[in-house]
Parts: sequence; structure tokens; C-alpha cells
Amino acid sequence: MRRPVPRLIVFPLAVAGAVLFGAFLDHWYFRESPSRDTIEALPEQLTPEEALAELRHGNRRYITSHRLRSIDTAHDADDRRRLAQGQHPFVALLCCADSRLSPEFVFDQKPGSIFEVRNAGNVVDDDVMASLEYAVEHLHVPLVIVLGHTGCGAIAAVHNAGDTPLPHHLRALQEHMRGIRPESLRHLGRHDSELLDRLALVNAKFQAEDLMNQSEPIRQAVKAGHSRLLYGIYHLDSGIVELEDLK
Ligand SMILES: [Zn+2]
Repeated sequence: MRRPVPRLIVFPLAVAGAVLFGAFLDHWYFRESPSRDTIEALPEQLTPEEALAELRHGNRRYITSHRLRSIDTAHDADDRRRLAQGQHPFVALLCCADSRLSPEFVFDQKPGSIFEVRNAGNVVDDDVMASLEYAVEHLHVPLVIVLGHTGCGAIAAVHNAGDTPLPHHLRALQEHMRGIRPESLRHLGRHDSELLDRLALVNAKFQAEDLMNQSEPIRQAVKAGHSRLLYGIYHLDSGIVELEDLK
């Protein structure tokens, strides 16, 4: 009969295994991300690809609780003085006004990097379009992003209302979110979070398409390769951002 392995041996081995696995994970997560010692100031002009890489690295730092830029307070006074001379953001972001979504945290950036336009449901109206056109034409941002999020109350309200007009000015929101209607109609009576999160992504794509179709300056910038237009979704629970190029 085999003798059981003593617990005194199994326990230390398990601990050592867990530590080694943790070290491997840490290395794997950060192999593409700057370390605390090597993170550098961003150049004033980034290509669309460099801008997207910086956002992805920043989001990875956020989801693994290794934020750097957004907690760097050592240079606050210098940064304010520099930014008072002018801004050079590398992304124009349209996202929901939801208080749980903080772009500077989500992408681990300092003030001056993200040109933000926000409203409930991240919808494109004339004012939003004007702001984004300003960012593309005058600030030459290499990235334009429309970002929805999971658990969006605006999406739920519009889906649940169906054909019934929402009260007061919420009706305008409903009108701007008409892009979710076909998908919403296919699931009449369903209200689960999985469906609502899918609608949030459908809406982000629809708003990005609206931007492309209605804004000549943005369309020209994208066609010339000066800017990339993406849409995506932010996951409230994990902090992960998924982005897609608008095809
Ligand atoms: Zn929302």
C-alpha cells in the first residue's frame, strides 16, 4: 500500500508553485507594457497605431492595478504649466456619461491626452459632431473612438421603451439610438444583461457609422489615414476595453 505524501511537504510545494505562477503571469501581462521605472513622456504627435498601442497598454495597466500615468502627481505643477500653453491629445473619445466610466483611469492617462465628449448613451448629435470635428481638424487627433459600456442605463431605457416615446428630452436620446431597434425588435420581451450589453456594442458601432456618414472632415481624415475611427465596449466589472476598427 502506498504511503500518503506528508502534508508538511505538499503545502510548501503548493505555495512555491503559486508564487512561480504569479511571477509568470506578471511577466506575461507586462512584457509589452512599460515598467514603473521606464515609462516615458508621450511625444506630441503619435501615429494612429502608436496611439492605439498606448491606449491598450494603459488599459492593461488599469485592469492589472498597475496604473502609472494617472497616479503620477510628482509633475502636476509642471504639467499644468505645459498644458496651459496648448493641448495635443492623441485620442478623441465619445463615451457614456455614466459615472463608473473614467477614461483617464481606464486608459491610465494624464490630463491633456484624451479629448472627451460625453453624454448618456454616447450618441452622436450636432454638438458632439462639432466637438469631434474640432478634435480632428484642429487638434489632429490620430484616433477617434466611440465607446459604449456594459450595464448602460440609457440602453436599457431605450430598449425597454420599445415604440413608446420616452418622456421629455429623453425622447431625443431614443431618436439618436434608433440603430439598436432592429436587434432590439428581434428580442422583444427579453431584458437580460447579455442582450443589453450586445445592444450597447451595436449602438457604439451605429454611432461611429453615423459619424463617418455625416461628418465630411472625419471621413476625409480616416480615408487619408490621418485618423482611425474605432468603436467598442468597456466592461464595468473587469475594466477591459474591447475595440474594433469601423469597417
Ligand atoms: Zn451608459
